[in-house]
Amino acid sequence: MKAFVMHEIGRVGFMEKPVPDLGPGDALIRTTRALICTSDSHTVHGGIGPRENLTLGHEAVGVVDSVGSEVKDFRPGDRVLVGAITPDWGDPASQNGHPSQSGGPLGGFKFANSKDGVFAELFHVNDADANLAKIPDGISDEAAVYCADMLSTGFMGAEHGNIPMGGTVAVLAQGPVGLMATAGARLRGAGLVIGVEAVPSRQKLARTYGADEIVDFTREDVVERILELTGGHGVDTAIEALGADVTFQTAVKVTKPGGTISNTGYFGEGEFVSIPRVEWGVGMADKTIASGLCPGGRLRMERLLRVVENGRVDPSHLTTHEFSFDDMERAFEVADKKLEDVVKVMISF
Ligand code: ZN
Repeated sequence: MKAFVMHEIGRVGFMEKPVPDLGPGDALIRTTRALICTSDSHTVHGGIGPRENLTLGHEAVGVVDSVGSEVKDFRPGDRVLVGAITPDWGDPASQNGHPSQSGGPLGGFKFANSKDGVFAELFHVNDADANLAKIPDGISDEAAVYCADMLSTGFMGAEHGNIPMGGTVAVLAQGPVGLMATAGARLRGAGLVIGVEAVPSRQKLARTYGADEIVDFTREDVVERILELTGGHGVDTAIEALGADVTFQTAVKVTKPGGTISNTGYFGEGEFVSIPRVEWGVGMADKTIASGLCPGGRLRMERLLRVVENGRVDPSHLTTHEFSFDDMERAFEVADKKLEDVVKVMISF
């Protein structure tokens, strides 16, 4: 079968690979749609260390090709969403309520990390009964595929943010995860959502997904402006959706005492992330710092699909580019180099 791989750090391309073997609880999925993620770029540029001929991609939907003998709820031909994170549900971390950390820190992140990913004609899923979700007839593949990672991670930013009904929220950066955090904050009852973003097309999308105010960091001081918009108090919740030291510090600075800094960003550089001492109340301002990796699991995906099915959020506005799998090299270049105001690149198989 054909797969799009990272041959080594900095080098991608197609190669032929054998169809994966199935264990009793596993499923083989024939890919129909996939999305390129910023994490794929991080991986190719060495974010998880060297890899040889690793199939990329972790956001996909498809049709069940075959299942292991112990899979109960899925059959060949079922149209399914696959979580970007595919935990081992028997692991102690899963039993402790943190399935994304099963098998060690971030261990639920298997696709294009500890095993081959989804940018292939077929791919393997462990614990199929727990890591697949059937896609309702009313939802297109093009919408459902956003539930694999973007909705799950963005909404997690809002969920971890402990947003009071009518509370104030700042979402720092309006990339695809930040945009879904903006939508999630709105769904969680925020009374004011402030989106921080400089790119005009992303500012517009932020408005579409529920931002009431936009702060452009190239034109104004973000901390001053957010304090001004909140009567000098700061926000109840700041969601970090970039993964940069300066953004994280801003999140701490703009959060009021008792508030929550909810991190979704990937911090790929440097030895430390710094916390601004004074605005952290010298360590005593009752500010909570929450972090998490995209939650996976069938129940979660079924909930996310329900949000889409009933029109609460339409993720399809995130798709700025579409390519066929055969054009994957160009598609990856557009996503990797952030060309043409790209937000998300959709691949059709
Ligand atoms: Zn992703």
